[in-house]
Amino acid sequence: MFELKVVTHFAAAHQLKMVSKKCENLHGHNWKVEVYITGKTLNSAGILIDFGQLKKHVSSIMEQLDHKFLNELKYFQEKNPSSEIISQYIAQTLRKAIDDPSIRVSRVTTWESEDACATYIVD
Ligand SMILES: [Zn+2]
Repeated sequence: MFELKVVTHFAAAHQLKMVSKKCENLHGHNWKVEVYITGKTLNSAGILIDFGQLKKHVSSIMEQLDHKFLNELKYFQEKNPSSEIISQYIAQTLRKAIDDPSIRVSRVTTWESEDACATYIVD
């Protein structure tokens, strides 16, 4: 099994309902995102997926989140834009974008501060 990881960032605002008084207030984070891709089969060039192609997919997802009020995005209308749900959103959106059955988006980790992150692990 091979695993690739790319690291990226976005900055956005959110408001978390039913968490704590502090989180219910509108506030922002500089999120750091780690995306993990796994697969067993390499292509004829000896790679799982071209890093350039992978980064292009990831950065188009970051563009959807960067400098936004996350609660207003369609995906987060019914769900709190917590680091957990943001990780899930990125994993699901990236899987659709890559659209290759031999490549798995295995997990996404979203850091909301230097010492706190949430990971979505794809079953
Ligand atoms: Zn927050």
